[in-house]
Amino acid sequence: MNKNLSKDNKEIYEKKIDWDSIQSEMKSKFGHDIYDSWLKKIEFIDEFNNYILISVTTRFIRDWITSRYIDQILQIVKSNNKNISRIEFTVNHKKENRAANIYENNNNKINTENVSFIKDTYLQYNRIDPNKNFKNFVVGSSNKLAYEASKKVSENISQYNPLYIYGGVGMGKTHLLNAIGLNYKQQKKVMFISAERFMYQFVKSIKNNDMVKFKDYFRNTDALLIDDIQFMNGKEAMQEEFFHTFNALLDKGSQIILSADRSPNKLLRIQERIKSRFSGGLVVDIQSPDYDLRYEIVKSKCYDLNLLYSNQLNITNELQKFISSEVKNSIRELVGALNRIVSFSRIYNKIPNISETKIILKDLLNLSENKVTIDLIQTTVCKYFKISKNEMLSSRRSRYLVRPRQTAIYLAKILTSKSLPEIGRTFSNRDHTTVIHSVKTIDRLIKEDNELKMNVDNLKNKILYNKDNEI
Ligand code: ADP
Ligand code: MG
Repeated sequence: MNKNLSKDNKEIYEKKIDWDSIQSEMKSKFGHDIYDSWLKKIEFIDEFNNYILISVTTRFIRDWITSRYIDQILQIVKSNNKNISRIEFTVNHKKENRAANIYENNNNKINTENVSFIKDTYLQYNRIDPNKNFKNFVVGSSNKLAYEASKKVSENISQYNPLYIYGGVGMGKTHLLNAIGLNYKQQKKVMFISAERFMYQFVKSIKNNDMVKFKDYFRNTDALLIDDIQFMNGKEAMQEEFFHTFNALLDKGSQIILSADRSPNKLLRIQERIKSRFSGGLVVDIQSPDYDLRYEIVKSKCYDLNLLYSNQLNITNELQKFISSEVKNSIRELVGALNRIVSFSRIYNKIPNISETKIILKDLLNLSENKVTIDLIQTTVCKYFKISKNEMLSSRRSRYLVRPRQTAIYLAKILTSKSLPEIGRTFSNRDHTTVIHSVKTIDRLIKEDNELKMNVDNLKNKILYNKDNEI
């Protein structure tokens, strides 16, 4: 951007921020690891009155930087030019080459020939992503119908027109539309656009007196896929145009596929005749994923990740299960959770353990802490080691009872605020020196014996977080 500047605007040029020096300040502030992983490839695009525009290669990197480093980066920028009060991002997918972006990209070249897309000044608009296809869409009971309908539509063997897919945020609607678009574009002209973008483009065409072009764009396509149709509300003139486009496409036998966050009849401020058109084909919904589907998705993404990182990213099965059981809201959050694990392991060179994971994923987990009582600890430990409570509390000293007993005493010490004598009393009136001995023994063994450490960690989680304490 700074190139080709004539002398006349040298003054403007001189006012611009020196991005190289910002980068070296970032390097010293954040350290090499963070700088290399996240900040090095930020591209400076332009500076405006009170903000700067920078570019990164993926949305994931943008979100990561925004959630962690943006305040400090802004400070650095401000110290160079105090008029700057914010930083804006643009995402330039073309430059994307990071391994961490497995979900947003792969190495296939995108064949855009049959895909119409509309360019904007900064955002290149092309929503077909080769990495969201039918092959990597994991099917479970909550999304089976939507998957099958999409598959049929994409193979031209259905009479469903339009196909209307609805469901909550992050359930896989865009993924399915994308997969249909990918299949189609081998032989057909496809237009894949979000309703928001459709409206934006519509308004822009009116302003620029470009309606003919706009109509051509949309009416010449063999398949029109519109994502998030709930945003196409209000704006009578636009609905009018949309209705005509819709009818024209149906008349000429083009396939229409729509997604929304709700069923057609619940759409707000959309004309009745359009809603009834939406319901005229097949309406399917995607529901929240159950544990099985979440686990299958996590397994499949972890498998891909491990391949991508040449077997260096072995997310343990324990961790996979933990994520599947705790990140419940949506598949998007599940994928986001895995991305964070990847980032963590890239920065720290190790897979996080469960406690670290809880920190990394804090905002995604709604772990409600149990009220920890010694009784709960005893019950959980007994169940875990398959012994009875009587055995645990007895004075028998067989090895298979001693370790669980010591473990329970240890957990009582670290998870409750009870005093040593109090703990002793709840373990059949044992002396407080016995309690001390147990705590010390387990403390020492944790450092030496991996299996025991894993058991203690598992138990801690069950006691703290699993309401039902299922084992
Ligand atoms: P929506 O459009 O419903 O908000 P997306 O299609 O954007 O949700 O899905 C969110 C993320 O979850 C995407 O990364 C997508 O690839 C992934 N995803 C959703 N459903 C599945 C699935 N069944 N199998 C694999 N990945 C999925
Ligand atoms: Mg979507």
